[in-house]
Amino acid sequence: MRSKTAGVVSILLALCATVDAETIIHAGRLIDGRSDKAREIVSLVIDQGRIVGIRAGYVEATENDTLINLRECTVMPGWMDMHTHLMSEHHKKVYSDKFFMNEADYVLRSTKYAERTLMAGFTTVRDLGDNGVNSVSLRKAIDAGWIVGPRIFTSGKALATTGGHADPTNGLKGDFRRDAGPVDGVVNGVDDARKAVRQRYKDGANLIKLTATGGVLSLAASGQNPQFTDEELRAIVTTAKDYEMTVAVHAHGTEGMKRAVLAGVDSIEHGTFMTDEVMELMKERGTYLVPTISAGVWVAEMAEVDDYFPEIVRPKAASIGPVARRTFARAYASGVKIAFGTDSGVSKHGENAREFELMVAGGMPPMTAIQAATLEAARLLKIEDRLGTLEAKKIADVVAVKGNPLEDITVTREVAFVMKDGVVYKGKGRVAVPED
Ligand SMILES: [Zn+2]
Repeated sequence: MRSKTAGVVSILLALCATVDAETIIHAGRLIDGRSDKAREIVSLVIDQGRIVGIRAGYVEATENDTLINLRECTVMPGWMDMHTHLMSEHHKKVYSDKFFMNEADYVLRSTKYAERTLMAGFTTVRDLGDNGVNSVSLRKAIDAGWIVGPRIFTSGKALATTGGHADPTNGLKGDFRRDAGPVDGVVNGVDDARKAVRQRYKDGANLIKLTATGGVLSLAASGQNPQFTDEELRAIVTTAKDYEMTVAVHAHGTEGMKRAVLAGVDSIEHGTFMTDEVMELMKERGTYLVPTISAGVWVAEMAEVDDYFPEIVRPKAASIGPVARRTFARAYASGVKIAFGTDSGVSKHGENAREFELMVAGGMPPMTAIQAATLEAARLLKIEDRLGTLEAKKIADVVAVKGNPLEDITVTREVAFVMKDGVVYKGKGRVAVPED
């Protein structure tokens, strides 16, 4: 009996030995997301979707291993974009989409944007506001392997107050301009605020997004006015904590931004008219800025194009857009924590890496910009125990570009290799090894 069991065990062990193949990446240069120095000529060893370790030199692969040759490349942790909108991409007639597109149309179209985002090197994104639960469905489809895309952390519908930036009925005529409530993400008072958070939890959102001030692209007059009371903000933050959700806050104007920081939110998105006082408060409280310079640049450019924006939007785009670059430079210089985010969906999906160039132009060293899109983003998401760096035991999300982004940040535009969860989605130079 005993010998029979031992026999079975030894057969199982033999099977395991043949199945237990590692993936070995030969990296010409490696940025691990944590160290300020890149390493050269190293091997990244991956087993069952997790990083086993980083070894000096190009280690040899055994017969069963997969060897990936990235000797010409710089290898980094998968990039993370903390501000995307995968359900849309801005175009001139975007305001009438809601009358002509079914929910399924939005989701099916978003599969293209999701794939483009992953292929651009972004293995994780936050999706900060759609028209309901579509991004939850998109996340589910990606997790199930039905389609290809980044790992998504979504807020679902963003929270607003009546007439606020994310009120879904702004600008519509008479009977379409209905009185939306907390189920639709529209909040007036602390009870609504709590209910709106709980509804997002019920919908399957990962975090909360709220619009603390006016915004550029909504059909409303002000892009800067404060739109939540202190009490509403505190109710949202404390309720979100009950469900272990973080709170991301859209804010351009100073007063709304200040109220949100004091209420204890996790990140300020855009942060356009951020004063020195707000920067000091953010540093005290450890609040992140997600700068979205790409969106600022894009709306400023489009404000110059005749008839592109409706007349209620255009002056906001012209006055708010150009400030983004200056604010980023000031915030970085003052020491505010910064996590990478683009607002893609305003600008084009798949061009997310342009934000790196804008960050570097604003005075941030390339290494710091890459860390903002890896370790810092993971910290903001509270997932740094498993993602954001290339270190032993972390999930194998890996991107690589040809050349050296520390010398020329524009090489991030062309991504040569993408791995998510240990699975290769993009990459030439794969070698099925070995020679003997
Ligand atoms: Zn946004």
